[in-house]
Amino acid sequence: MSLETLDSRHPDAVVVGGGLIGSSIALRLAQAGLRVSVLDRGPAGQEASSAAAGMIAPQAEKMGPAKFGELCGLSHSLYPEFAAEVEALSGHVVNYRRDGTLLVALDDEQVREIDDIEADAASPAIERLDSQAAQRRVPGLASDIRSALFLAGDHWVDNERLTRAVIEAARRQGVTFQENTPVRRIHVRHERMEGAETDRERIACGEVILAAGCWSGTLAATAGVELPMEPCRGQMLEFELDSPLPVVVRGGHSYLVPRDGNRVVVGTTAEYAGFDAAVTAGGIAEVLRAALRLAPFLAGGCFRRAWAGLRPDTADHLPILGPCGISGLTLATGHFRNGILLAPVTARLIADIVVNKSSPPVLESFAAERFAPVA
Ligand SMILES: Cc1cc2nc3c(=O)[nH]c(=O)nc-3n(C[C@H](O)[C@H](O)[C@H](O)COP(=O)(O)OP(=O)(O)OC[C@H]3O[C@@H](n4cnc5c(N)ncnc54)[C@H](O)[C@@H]3O)c2cc1C
Repeated sequence: MSLETLDSRHPDAVVVGGGLIGSSIALRLAQAGLRVSVLDRGPAGQEASSAAAGMIAPQAEKMGPAKFGELCGLSHSLYPEFAAEVEALSGHVVNYRRDGTLLVALDDEQVREIDDIEADAASPAIERLDSQAAQRRVPGLASDIRSALFLAGDHWVDNERLTRAVIEAARRQGVTFQENTPVRRIHVRHERMEGAETDRERIACGEVILAAGCWSGTLAATAGVELPMEPCRGQMLEFELDSPLPVVVRGGHSYLVPRDGNRVVVGTTAEYAGFDAAVTAGGIAEVLRAALRLAPFLAGGCFRRAWAGLRPDTADHLPILGPCGISGLTLATGHFRNGILLAPVTARLIADIVVNKSSPPVLESFAAERFAPVA
């Protein structure tokens, strides 16, 4: 890209939002030689990216359209290298684990779901288990399991550690993080992005990448781009068990995901309650009821903490990625339930768009234009 026209005090690219998506993109842009600033309204990395469960699970999630499955598969395949690179660059361990997922069915509907997953996947890494075999994998599960699938290819990562590590890796590559700096507006003139405005200044730059999670819609509107986005709250609990949980366990909307030190994170709810990330009594009860039904052994776990995060959902539940009809403004948002899984591929493709002005075919289905013409 041509940088000559830019003042040397100005970054080449401003990334709005320092979650896992924005920070991963910033890292890739800095590696490509750009001067990058990440602006975050709070401390970077503290929203959905830290609240998540960290499942890298293209098989256990019902992946929707084929193009989305392709995107998820691509990101899944990038994960081993991404995690190793981030660990090497940051000096932090991220706990990327490839132990697999046990998907459990407790009723007819869940049996149909795992039948579908088994039929769709046609992968040798999928193993059908009866109740006893499932119990052998994870002792103490519900005694009335109808059927189960073991998905060896579904992995997990400690997303809090990963997000911190990506931020640190990006910093070490020269990215500037301006925290507690909300962006109020993205300036556009004659369909050309001119910069980002905070309470203190207007930052001129050649490129803005909007990666502000569920807050992206409000910011896009300031540039005249309408994004049909809505936050979807998920409440989570964490317990300490007597021994480590060997694999991720999922059943219906409930899941238990291991962490180091015998910890386990338990989720979740899917609530459309606006931008309110409160933990509620009803939410805790819902999460616990479902988890204890699936995994009665959890009853002996020691409670550690509860939290909630806001998933960036979109009208069709698919991400919004790439150009938006305004030169210099690129969108990287709407990752809904899969932003941890999708971080490596998003970072790679968005950096490619910004640096090389490419149009990766895999992103065609995820353009903002699918919703409405840009105003
Ligand atoms: C309970 C829960 C469980 C989940 N589990 C999984 C899972 O197992 N696997 C998976 O793949 N995904 C999961 N997800 C989804 C995943 O967490 C998200 O898709 C992903 O974290 C989105 O990342 P992000 O960087 O876009 O958003 P965020 O992490 O929310 O980051 C957005 C950033 O933008 C900043 N920002 C907002 N407004 C402004 C502004 N005006 N100016 C500057 N900065 C701003 C925020 O402060 C924030 O730091 C889960 C989500 C939740 C809530």
